[in-house]
Amino acid sequence: MLNRAAFLSALTRRSYLKLSMNDNQYTVQLSILRKKLEEQQQGLQSEGLKNRRERHLLRRFIGRISQGLKGYSAELDALMADLRQALENPDVQVDSLIPKLAMAERMTIRQTENRDKEFSGLALQVSQSGDVLKRVRGLPAQLKRELNGLLLQHNNPSQELLLRRTTRLLSMYDRAVKLITASHDFSGNLRELIDKDLQLSLSNELQHLITELDFDGQFGDQLLDIRNQLLLGVDSEKLMSIALQVIRLVLDGTHAERQASQQFLTSINQDLASLKHSTSKTLEHSESVVANHSELNAELSRVGQNLQVVVQDPTNMQAMVKQVGDAQQAIQALVERNRALEKHQQTLIDRIQFNESRLQQLCDQTADYRRRLNDQERKVFLDHLTKVYNRAALADRLDHEYKRWLRHQHPLCIAFVDLDHFKDINDSYGHSAGDKALKIIARTIFRNMPDTDFVARYGGEEFVLIMPEREKNILTEQLNQIREAIAALPFKFRDRSVSISASIGATLFTESDTPQQVLDRADRALYDAKDSGRNRLIWV
Ligand code: GH3
Ligand code: MG
Ligand code: MG
Repeated sequence: MLNRAAFLSALTRRSYLKLSMNDNQYTVQLSILRKKLEEQQQGLQSEGLKNRRERHLLRRFIGRISQGLKGYSAELDALMADLRQALENPDVQVDSLIPKLAMAERMTIRQTENRDKEFSGLALQVSQSGDVLKRVRGLPAQLKRELNGLLLQHNNPSQELLLRRTTRLLSMYDRAVKLITASHDFSGNLRELIDKDLQLSLSNELQHLITELDFDGQFGDQLLDIRNQLLLGVDSEKLMSIALQVIRLVLDGTHAERQASQQFLTSINQDLASLKHSTSKTLEHSESVVANHSELNAELSRVGQNLQVVVQDPTNMQAMVKQVGDAQQAIQALVERNRALEKHQQTLIDRIQFNESRLQQLCDQTADYRRRLNDQERKVFLDHLTKVYNRAALADRLDHEYKRWLRHQHPLCIAFVDLDHFKDINDSYGHSAGDKALKIIARTIFRNMPDTDFVARYGGEEFVLIMPEREKNILTEQLNQIREAIAALPFKFRDRSVSISASIGATLFTESDTPQQVLDRADRALYDAKDSGRNRLIWV
């Protein structure tokens, strides 16, 4: 939990909190002093430091410095005491002290380096402790905002700034601890705050979920209706029943989609089975047609041969007439059979054509189904209201860009764009006006970005931009262009001209960053942009 005691003890261990002058200043002063003495040694060697007043001043000066440095190192303390004591003694020549002063200078430099390291450690600890405090549920919004402002990172905070931050963070811990203790002792206030916090995040999560589900038909309509209720705000009881409703709708919607797919596959299977049956029947028939044809041909050639034999013997006229008569009858019968065969053949051709067109139909149906599946797959990554990418797509792309950044170390920028006072638009002109504005603003952001950039709707009226491979000054120009383009959109709701502005928080990947750290940092920059008046871009 708050582990304030550990935090305090870490701070008290760092005794430099007592300092009013920093180590660098001491080091510089000691160098100046040594130089002065060296000059005096060269120029005024013969005179020495006869002037008692000067000697007194020098002693006082060393006394102050050793006061300030006291406690850092026993060795340095002893050396300073030694110097002070030597200056008390009028017999000791000041120039004989120069080696000791040089040693004190070296020790202070070392001390300064150590201190710098400790300060970096402290800066890290302040930021980590701030993050811990931020995650405590039920902190009042004001305290959270202050905390976000405090955590806004400056790459190298000066020691004064760091001390100020540490003190502010401590006072925030103080307020948080008091709040928690008071609520335990006296009332359920904090419990209420925590509940409210949970409710808000549950409501936001449900809205994200609905935006990303994108069911068609009645399930889609019902989910949109629920999203609108959530936007208007609901009490905890209603929220619970809405959460259950969403789960039920998701299950029903998934079930319906699965059933539709199953029906489609079953009907395709049945069609294919009957097509197969009909094709094999057609094949059998065409085989029998071919066999009949060859039989017919054989008989025809037999009739022909018989006739030839009779024609070769013209003497037996009677036999010839009979033979020709028989042949005519045989040919007549063969013609009849051939006609029947042709009819059969035509039926076969018709069946084959019918099968062919059914096959074509099946191909069209499956192609259409495949297209719908592809569309759905694409839609999984698109926000259905604004048609820009959704959060799932953002995670994918961010991971990809992060890996590219690790390889090439080209600049990579993440920016949060959040619309200002958007709730007021909904409250004043209704949600459908708000929805329309969101669509137009998403399109405006998209149109004002190069093709290589990426925009996703991160939450309700919040977008995340990924902008690779550009220097900060160019990015600043482009982000401001987006911001100005949004502010210049001429909305008209209920005959009123309305303008909507956006605040932008941006940051670049640096050194050991992970994507989550960068998102958090950009989010903090966004808070800062809001805090410092909105409709502006802030970098961290
Ligand atoms: P600011 O960011 O400047 O601090 O003020 P805000 O009013 O924009 O504050 P906040 O981010 O807390 O509220 C966001 C509002 O955006 C809440 C909700 O009314 C609205 N909103 C979120 N998602 C949608 C949406 O999909 N459609 C509509 N119409 N409104 C939405
Ligand atoms: Mg907003
Ligand atoms: Mg917001």
